[in-house]
Amino acid sequence: MKKYEFRKNIWILEDQVEYFLVNSFVLFSKTGNIVIDTFDTPEKAEQIRALIKEEGRDSFETTVINTHYHYDHAWGNSVFFPCTILGHAMTKQKMIEDEMLLAEFQKKDPAYQTVQIVPPTVTFEESYVLDKGDMVLTLRHMPSHTEDSTLIWLKEAGQEDLLFTGDILEDPFPMLESDLEISWFLKTLREMMDMKAKVYLTSHSGVTSRELLIRNKAYLECLARYMEKVRKEGKGISCQKAEEMMEMMLSEYEAANGIKRELTREEKNVHIKNVKKALSAAEKAAQK
Ligand SMILES: [Zn+2]
Repeated sequence: MKKYEFRKNIWILEDQVEYFLVNSFVLFSKTGNIVIDTFDTPEKAEQIRALIKEEGRDSFETTVINTHYHYDHAWGNSVFFPCTILGHAMTKQKMIEDEMLLAEFQKKDPAYQTVQIVPPTVTFEESYVLDKGDMVLTLRHMPSHTEDSTLIWLKEAGQEDLLFTGDILEDPFPMLESDLEISWFLKTLREMMDMKAKVYLTSHSGVTSRELLIRNKAYLECLARYMEKVRKEGKGISCQKAEEMMEMMLSEYEAANGIKRELTREEKNVHIKNVKKALSAAEKAAQK
């Protein structure tokens, strides 16, 4: 696992799993340690704890924050327990429901044998301020990648503001993993634009800039336009429609954003899943 100090007292831990990268973050404030996300197993979360020790910070109280309920961000929580684990109320609910998923993982992979799901101990609905004196973190509920997605805004005197985005932003495009309509995700991205931050610390695409936010927004706007087209044509939502839409949309998006490189098979699969998810969310909303 790669560990590096991104800025004084702000560390990034990077776990490379096959083609897929996962980040956790550690912040050392004058009054405590803050861990943002804990990876998918206690073994990996132990590496976060090792860093805290190496930096001589183990006498400080640690607070954990989960950006959302997904296993790759929250199944290492038990390593820090008992401690305050902050998360959205829905993050807690979804993590409790994931016991079944854990049992499935454990059947297939011994690495998950030691996982004990420990959901947030302190929850919020809209926002929560964690004031550590020199570091002030504002947690905001921003429905997007998942319904419980939380954005963390760090303000530190004399430093550039940082946004910890969890899976809200992803390169080349975000993943739709909830039953929410795309309009929710777009609302979140517009609000993020208004925050005017320059640096975005993502959970799967490392340290990024506003450029990724703009590009992710363009992708979802493009997807929303195609959804609208499908709706207007009134032909219903079929898989064939999805195939057609995927190709057309991708070429339009690539042309508009000057993307020259060939997308990987995994990235194309994310796009296909996104289109299907958006179609099913629109269908569910129409039935209501
Ligand atoms: Zn996720």
